[in-house]
Amino acid sequence: MKILVTGGAGFIGSAVVRHIINNTQSRVVNLDKLTYAGNLESLTSIASSERYAFEQVDICDRAELDRVFAQHQPDAVMHLAAESHVDRSIDGPADFIETNIVGTYQLLEASRSYWKDLPEARKAAFRFHHISTDEVYGDLEGPEDLFTETTPYAPSSPYSASKASSDHLVRAWRRTYGLPTVVTNCSNNYGPYHFPEKLIPLVILNALEGKPLPVYGKGNQIRDWLFVEDHARALYKVVTEGKIGETYNIGGHNEKQNIEVVHTICALLDELRPLSQTALGIKAHKDLITFVQDRPGHDIRYAIDASKIQRELGWSPEETFESGIRKTVIWYLENLNWAQRVQDGSYQRERLGTQ
Ligand code: NAD
Repeated sequence: MKILVTGGAGFIGSAVVRHIINNTQSRVVNLDKLTYAGNLESLTSIASSERYAFEQVDICDRAELDRVFAQHQPDAVMHLAAESHVDRSIDGPADFIETNIVGTYQLLEASRSYWKDLPEARKAAFRFHHISTDEVYGDLEGPEDLFTETTPYAPSSPYSASKASSDHLVRAWRRTYGLPTVVTNCSNNYGPYHFPEKLIPLVILNALEGKPLPVYGKGNQIRDWLFVEDHARALYKVVTEGKIGETYNIGGHNEKQNIEVVHTICALLDELRPLSQTALGIKAHKDLITFVQDRPGHDIRYAIDASKIQRELGWSPEETFESGIRKTVIWYLENLNWAQRVQDGSYQRERLGTQ
């Protein structure tokens, strides 16, 4: 099976590409524009596989999409390319509208045009798998409520509204044109190769440098955390075994307040990289926590009911939050060079051929 993965140089996309190359016989064509969030250094371990190919292409560029489909003849598309950072969507929504909505539309049209001319057997087996987020459902009301596949959409941020739009486009292409689509909505991911602007890597890296650990509001926002490699396994299961037209929610059964997550990281760093008594005048990493003004429109609680994918496809997460966060902290401690090259911009400068 040859899979066209969009956004394969990003955080989750690179985990998907590594998972497919390392654990299956499938081939991957990674199609990525390489925005600030795309980092080919996350793929060094598999880049020389003869089952892997890379195409630097913008999903908004229809002519280039048509060329890639014609040249590589994929059996499935896993669509992860997106602008993904909520804070950036508040500062400047335009790129989110362009990539997440218009780009998804262009990819759907390129897929449809390629798919409709495939021979019957390949046409029947083709899949368009759209990867989305639980943020499309908005805030949960009660403390026990969970998002299911039929929860109404109520996005709160420009990011989640653009992802909700793209989910609707995918469903419409299924209903109207019969494109064999499947959609997944997942909770917050964490793990290796996470871009340092996101909460968990930001806290780890700032703590190591003795910098403040910024926490929005009171840190009482609840997210359901999923280890990225568990997500990658779920996505491969869905693209290979999922039922056409279905939506699957994916979550980690790990509801944590942001402040709890930050305290857990601080405790792990106290254990793995203890501070000397005099360092920076602080005794424990948690002394670096600084509360900052909350983000506008910040949803309080997300939590996923992942029973459908467990029941129908036999997937469940392998990592608990405790095991996954320990692996993540250790990964950053052992891969500070990867993070440093993102933070100082050299991962981008070198691929652009500048100093
Ligand atoms: P990311 O920001 O780390 O990576 C996005 C990738 O898409 C980058 O490699 C970037 O270069 C590429 N890209 C951006 N615009 C593009 C364009 N116009 N054309 C081609 N490539 C483009 O994102 P991520 O965290 O890996 O998320 C991947 C997908 O999963 C997104 O669709 C996101 O909405 C979804 N998702 C993320 C989370 C999470 O916790 N990170 C949770 C649920 C769902």
